[in-house]
Amino acid sequence: MRIDNVEYSTFSGWIDPPADVVPALAGDLTCDVAVIGGGMGGMATALRLAERGQDVVLLEAQFCGYGSSSRNGGQIASVPGGDLRLLGLLHPKALPGMVRLAENSARFVEDLMKTHDIECDYEPNGLALAAVGHGQMLRIRTVAAILRRAGGHGHVGTSEELGIPRGFVGGMRESLGGMLNPGKLSRGVRRALLSSPARVFEKTKVTDVTRHGGKVVISTPRGTVHANKAVLATNAYSGEWDITPKRLSVPMWLIEMETEPIAPERIAALGWSSRSGVITQHQIMEHYRLTPRNTIVIGVRRIERGRTYPLPAKAPDRQLVEELAGAFATRFPALADVAVARAWGGWIAITSSWLSVAGRIEDNIYYSIACNGHGLAQAPYVGSLIADLIVDGSRAEDLDGIWAKEPKFPPFTMMGPLGLRTAWTVDRFTDLLNGSRRRALRAAARVR
Ligand SMILES: Cc1cc2nc3c(=O)[nH]c(=O)nc-3n(C[C@H](O)[C@H](O)[C@H](O)COP(=O)(O)OP(=O)(O)OC[C@H]3O[C@@H](n4cnc5c(N)ncnc54)[C@H](O)[C@@H]3O)c2cc1C
Repeated sequence: MRIDNVEYSTFSGWIDPPADVVPALAGDLTCDVAVIGGGMGGMATALRLAERGQDVVLLEAQFCGYGSSSRNGGQIASVPGGDLRLLGLLHPKALPGMVRLAENSARFVEDLMKTHDIECDYEPNGLALAAVGHGQMLRIRTVAAILRRAGGHGHVGTSEELGIPRGFVGGMRESLGGMLNPGKLSRGVRRALLSSPARVFEKTKVTDVTRHGGKVVISTPRGTVHANKAVLATNAYSGEWDITPKRLSVPMWLIEMETEPIAPERIAALGWSSRSGVITQHQIMEHYRLTPRNTIVIGVRRIERGRTYPLPAKAPDRQLVEELAGAFATRFPALADVAVARAWGGWIAITSSWLSVAGRIEDNIYYSIACNGHGLAQAPYVGSLIADLIVDGSRAEDLDGIWAKEPKFPPFTMMGPLGLRTAWTVDRFTDLLNGSRRRALRAAARVR
């Protein structure tokens, strides 16, 4: 793959920043509920609160959709993140609830698009877990069985049966969800929010959140908000204040890149008839998806842990792009001559359970970290459920499986540089043994 002319971005390859950034908060104000963070999670929370007649203020450090909500791979997943084999082992009772939450999250985002008439290139073709070798296929069959027992749905088949690229052995296609342009989705939700009665302040970085006399006091550089309740929806940036529960999450940096447009007949030759996005079953996944502009977006394979707050705004290193380009050339040898057009990255929050977490600090500060690679659908759905909880006073069943009864979290294991490096090394070692390179070359040769 050619990487000599890559556009490295500190924002996203999906969309440009908005031209109509809303002015920052200047002065003090009071409100019933303040939402901090304008990603898909915070925006959906504020939108729902406004729809339900609440006096809501949203504070966003940059502009709504600045964070991972506009930068991700655009896959609407309908299966929980993390390793279902481990979850089945550690949380057998909670698993059905997690599966239901994941499916309802996908449905929620589809409804959000319809209700607010958001055009975001959505293709409801179900994300596919894809195996690069027979070991990964075995894992997928186990995962599919666990999923079925927990009430979930997925269709297992060969690559031909699923219509995913021939270089893969096969996989499991999820029954709901699909792929979209996440930049357009978050821009559409921002538009809906700005048209709602919610008061939105962009370019307003919250510097501290404290409690005083039963109220939540939110400090920003040019004004203070006094709220009866607050929702923390800052995702990976959540470790910046003392009030955040310790070890709630750790920030991880991951990247995406997009190829130049590829001739349609070359894409057709891959056998990718379902157009479903694919994620491999490595310890640290690789993902590949098509776009309506005849390009392929490729992501992850390596993750880096953020060490200190505030998290830097950064573009991907050339070395990371080089590595992803190498992976692409291995999985798609027939396209090894294609150039990388652009690359970008984002911060996500990983929780120690690898699952969404929501909860409450004291009686009036709610938090939600709905990420771990599946947050595009889960963050807004969980946000809307938190909004309903604030209004109704009762918790929806879908929150039960992820609700932290006490804001206390176990220490992280395997999430330091050594653990991440080990996971990456295991992936590269198994790739040497699983025959994936040979299989991809054979698949490419068959269509020549
Ligand atoms: C490269 C990448 C690929 C991914 N791929 C997928 C995928 O394919 N499918 C999927 O489901 N998920 C994916 N994810 C995860 C998904 O994007 C996130 O889980 C989801 O967008 C989280 O939404 P959010 O609203 O919680 O956070 P964010 O979108 O990150 O929003 C948080 C917001 O808080 C603001 N903020 C932070 N600090 C402050 C402060 N002090 N004051 C005010 N505002 C503040 C930020 O500016 C930001 O706008 C991916 C993530 C990345 C980075």
